[in-house]
Amino acid sequence: MNIKQKVDFSIPLMIDKMGDIFNPFFLKFKNEKNQLLIFYFHGVYESLKQKEQSHVSPQNNVTKEQLSEFVEYFLENDYKFIAPEDLKKGLEKDNSYVMITFDDGYYNNFYSLPILEEFQVPATYFITTNNLVSNSSYWWDVIYKYRTKEGVSLKMVQQEQEYLKRFKYFEIDQYLLHNFGNTCFEPWSDVDRPMSIEELKIFAEHDLVTIGNHTHNHVILTNYTKAEIIEEFKKSNEILTEIIGYKPNILAFPNGNYSSSLIELANKVGFQYVFTTNSYINRLPLKTANVIMLNRYMAKAVNINEYGSFSRLGYQGDLLYHNFKKKIKNLI
Ligand SMILES: [Zn+2]
Repeated sequence: MNIKQKVDFSIPLMIDKMGDIFNPFFLKFKNEKNQLLIFYFHGVYESLKQKEQSHVSPQNNVTKEQLSEFVEYFLENDYKFIAPEDLKKGLEKDNSYVMITFDDGYYNNFYSLPILEEFQVPATYFITTNNLVSNSSYWWDVIYKYRTKEGVSLKMVQQEQEYLKRFKYFEIDQYLLHNFGNTCFEPWSDVDRPMSIEELKIFAEHDLVTIGNHTHNHVILTNYTKAEIIEEFKKSNEILTEIIGYKPNILAFPNGNYSSSLIELANKVGFQYVFTTNSYINRLPLKTANVIMLNRYMAKAVNINEYGSFSRLGYQGDLLYHNFKKKIKNLI
């Protein structure tokens, strides 16, 4: 990275960090009505000991306590927790809504159920069906587990994970098998394994649970042809329908990658709502469309006060910085 790139990278981060510090104060004065906040989680640690085992990429996971604090925080702030079904019914005006989603289909998502039950709030789980049917670890965790064991730093691990995202799933599989051996996809514990088919069946029957599509191979959709994408959507839906007894009408883009043509394909397959990883507020009423796109914030393993991340005020560090830069350029 040269100096200019470093500045462009660091300043938005600094703005966001400042936002995290001051946000709890600003949010007190903000009217958060007529909006829907959606968060995406991945794994849930039952205990801190599970976190220390280093079996899953830690940046994506929260402890049970953190999830519980998250729910309490939004309930205390008069947010109403909703499920995708509530979207169809329509959301009332002058309310604030929040939705919990989980991506990938980890077995450890079972640890979230007692919290949903305690507070009577629903959650939505997007399942990657190939991991489910083959009981194989998620590829990013394979990298993390083996590299951490080798003593590689988290930063380097993240760089390797990012590098691999440009390839197709079978190329990533080849890379992992070549580097870590034939048994590398075998899960190491309950922390890194996906749910089994039987477990998903039980899980999906829970009143507070909704199941969604997350493609069959967790593909970064923008790397694939139209025919391949349709196949990914359909295969996953067929497997899920067989297990849970209904056809999912919601989809979360793996890694958040999408394009406008993908929305059309999602419509063709029959999805009504697609969940992105664009960290913005969803303003109400939602715009009507054949396929409604929803923004999601990544749930972080941070102090609950920081859940008013800067963007919850309607701003983003990178957008503010780039708009500012543009204005200065125009002046010169
Ligand atoms: Zn995912």
